[in-house]
Amino acid sequence: MRDHAKNAGMDDVIIFNTCAVTKEAERQARQAIRRARRENPNSKIIVTGCASQISPEKYAQMEEIDQIIGNDLKLKAESWGADGDHARILVNDIMSVKETASQLIEGFEDKSRAFLQVQNGCDHRCTFCIIPYGRGNSRSVPIGVIAEQVKALVAQGYNEIVFTGVDVTSYGPDLPGNPTLGQMIRRVLALVPELPRLRLSSLDPVEIDEDMWRLIAEESRFMPHLHLSLQAGDDMILKRMKRRHLRQDVIDVCNRARDLRPDIAFGADIIAGFPTETEEMFQNSLRIVEECDITYLHVFPYSEREGTPAARIPNKVPVPERKERAARLRDLGAKQVQNLLKRNVNKSHNVIVEKGGIGRTENFLPVLLKGEHSAGTLMEIKVLDIKDDMLSA
Ligand code: SF4
Repeated sequence: MRDHAKNAGMDDVIIFNTCAVTKEAERQARQAIRRARRENPNSKIIVTGCASQISPEKYAQMEEIDQIIGNDLKLKAESWGADGDHARILVNDIMSVKETASQLIEGFEDKSRAFLQVQNGCDHRCTFCIIPYGRGNSRSVPIGVIAEQVKALVAQGYNEIVFTGVDVTSYGPDLPGNPTLGQMIRRVLALVPELPRLRLSSLDPVEIDEDMWRLIAEESRFMPHLHLSLQAGDDMILKRMKRRHLRQDVIDVCNRARDLRPDIAFGADIIAGFPTETEEMFQNSLRIVEECDITYLHVFPYSEREGTPAARIPNKVPVPERKERAARLRDLGAKQVQNLLKRNVNKSHNVIVEKGGIGRTENFLPVLLKGEHSAGTLMEIKVLDIKDDMLSA
């Protein structure tokens, strides 16, 4: 988007790429847009991303905004132009978008790792989720294109690449030959032997193909760190969410992965206070974290998204209760991190250096490093201690 704006001669433009996943994300976006307008009265403000794709009329009412560009059109050069050339609302029907995801490089984290979007959109309709209405149906990037991008990034000096997607486990059926996610990753690793570390941003526990299992078991360049789209630990809630896994499926996945790769660490997205969730059901979410020994928790208090089936369920958990449950989950997450830190003391680790002298182990623990190292460097260290919630070399 930055390049398109620059190439179109737009030199004083502020772009907001909004998120719609919770009410709070939208509130913060609106606040930031108003602040940007106050501080930059003469800049052109363009709003794009899921929130404005889903409700363009809502954002059109904000006079601070000059233009709204939808999620598909934002990636096309012709959508960008100086004042007067374009309609104020440029949003098309995202469900009609069929071509493969074209938005490859998502962003960079201080030269230590690059993110590559290999899939976009989602064909599922979990009852709490608004994402498919912002991103459209699932589409995948062909393996050859991914391999070329990975090669280029490695040539630029990136030693770790993270594959991202909205529902990355649905990779493949829209491509010739229907490759699975595991097949794609194995192929890319074979095509780019010079890539030292590959990480996956998230995984649906219900759809792990046999090639993924082989990767987990055999490929040391595939990082032992799986972030699971868990959402809840109670079967009734999982059914009401229309998730396709049950509690036991997740436990089985974690056990199998840990048998194959004992150093593997798990993360999970969990929603606290989904409609009808009782304290007892919530306890099942707490318990599954311990049972599966999940370390990195992304916790969200349930947030009603207009237009989703869950928003119409009358039996809501009161907001303070949702927040309180979310806080308990986060406390448990902090304990889980401490446990994993302790288990990794007195061990050697391969780390990648992030900014500020922090390293990251293969299973994603932070390490306080001695001395100066530039971001992106790979090094082997021996962990001696724990300091400030980090391993210390
Ligand atoms: S699979 Fe993920 S992105 Fe798709 S509807 Fe469910 S929660 Fe949303």
